[in-house]
Amino acid sequence: MTIFWLVYAFVIGICIGSFLNVVILRGLSGESIVLPPSHCTKCNHKLAWYDNIPLLSYIILAGKCRYCKEKISPQYPIVEFVTGIVFAGLYYKYGFNLNTIFIMAAASLCIVLAVTDLKEKVILDGHAYLLMLLGLLYNMFNLSAENSTKIIFWLFGMKITIYQSLIYSALGLLAGFFAMKAIAALSKLITRKDCFGEGDAYILGALGAFFGIVNVIVIFILSIFIWGGLAVPVFLYKWIKDKNYKMFSAIVLFIIAAALFAAGEFFNVFTSNLFHWFAYLLVASIGLYCCMLLVRSIKEGSKLHVIPYGPALVFGAFFVMFVL
Ligand SMILES: [Zn+2]
Repeated sequence: MTIFWLVYAFVIGICIGSFLNVVILRGLSGESIVLPPSHCTKCNHKLAWYDNIPLLSYIILAGKCRYCKEKISPQYPIVEFVTGIVFAGLYYKYGFNLNTIFIMAAASLCIVLAVTDLKEKVILDGHAYLLMLLGLLYNMFNLSAENSTKIIFWLFGMKITIYQSLIYSALGLLAGFFAMKAIAALSKLITRKDCFGEGDAYILGALGAFFGIVNVIVIFILSIFIWGGLAVPVFLYKWIKDKNYKMFSAIVLFIIAAALFAAGEFFNVFTSNLFHWFAYLLVASIGLYCCMLLVRSIKEGSKLHVIPYGPALVFGAFFVMFVL
């Protein structure tokens, strides 16, 4: 029976994913979500219902428009499939209740935010505000049922009762927004370039409103590592292409040193404190040297800082949803 419901959640997920594709595309083009019926973006031919079946139509049509044979963007099946997997996963973890519906809605908005950021490097305010609102409502009614403590206070002679989770939510919103603003200002001060988009602060603020002050810190720290993990291969590829061997070897050296240090830590190689600190300082200095080279190359005009940050934040949010 569980398998049946998991498949059911997956199917609902790919249908929602199909709708998210419309939200993403029409959000970016400024078209209405409901008004114009689905059409091919190349030849404008109206699509029949059988051209619009999530996931299946793409496979049956072999990724090409039935009418003009234009390639259909792989964004469509990817978003549908990912949403399906996410919905099945959330159902598996949380079961089916009001709480899950809110988390699924938040996950859907996260997917939209990540894809528009990846595609066009923009985050639409409307999407972020909607996630904020969702987060505040979710915590106002304490749907996660984690911090069910009620707080009672008097305001102008009115007795007001709220859940503690709403306070965590409001604090999370502020902390997320201002942490991102601070990092953006700091990185601009160092590199004199805009390393973060306006939208990143709205995303982390919205995630803070949904997941609360504690989890938003987790998401923020995770996102730094995730972004690094995603960006480093892109950097390495670019440096090889540009024949920037100095930068390439510095980063490779750092990765090897960090891996050796972690292995040493794991196998208890560091028998003396002095040896341990020496190794740590060595790794940290190589890392610092890499950062200096990176900042210099961004100052000199390489576009290394334009890898969007939104998807890393969204990955962090998914970690909180699925693991914590
Ligand atoms: Zn077409």
